[in-house]
Amino acid sequence: MAATVLVVEDEPNIGELLRTYLQRDGHQVIWVRRGEDALVELRRHPIKLVLLDIRLPGIDGFEVCRRIGGNVPVIMLTARDEEADRVAGLEMGADDYVTKPFSPREVMARVKAVLRRAAAGPPAEDVSRVGPVTVARGAREVHVDGQKVPLTQREFDLLEYLVRRAGRVVTRDELLESVWGFVSPGETRTVEVHVAQLRKKLGHPDLIETVRGLGYKVAEVR
Ligand code: CA
Repeated sequence: MAATVLVVEDEPNIGELLRTYLQRDGHQVIWVRRGEDALVELRRHPIKLVLLDIRLPGIDGFEVCRRIGGNVPVIMLTARDEEADRVAGLEMGADDYVTKPFSPREVMARVKAVLRRAAAGPPAEDVSRVGPVTVARGAREVHVDGQKVPLTQREFDLLEYLVRRAGRVVTRDELLESVWGFVSPGETRTVEVHVAQLRKKLGHPDLIETVRGLGYKVAEVR
């Protein structure tokens, strides 16, 4: 599944590494070192995915992400132990993040998962309702109490997955494998961070229940 991928990274060895691996997987790579240049390239090329460093000279990765505005999937590249950065990145609409130093194989697995979801396109219209929440798969829209709630691609996929399985517990590893496309999940707080964001955006914190030691559950409401 070859695509044009924009890498925004000012550290030469990391940029080089990403470019090498992406090209090896058959992708066309545009690599820029500044946020301003990223915005120019996004207007010029049909970019399918952005790998975005946060700490950049000039405008930073958060601002670039905000300006992309959910139009193109974004994977943030964050420094180790900067939980605040990851949360802020997800709030700005990033779909995922990887922590430096990262394994290129892990990054490529996430790239593949994001591109696969994007290429799958919208499924046939199919609407689920759980309590005040309506999930329209074809339109990829979520309404709460009749109001549209803007979600990132990942948040939508996560909610859709849970709603489709309403009434049963879904484990964190299952979510990582099915929603994120991870092969061997290991230690990551991605699921927790996304669930917290989703609860906040939906305005009904009880909708997604935490089942201690097991995972999450959306209660079945008819
Ligand atoms: Ca940097």
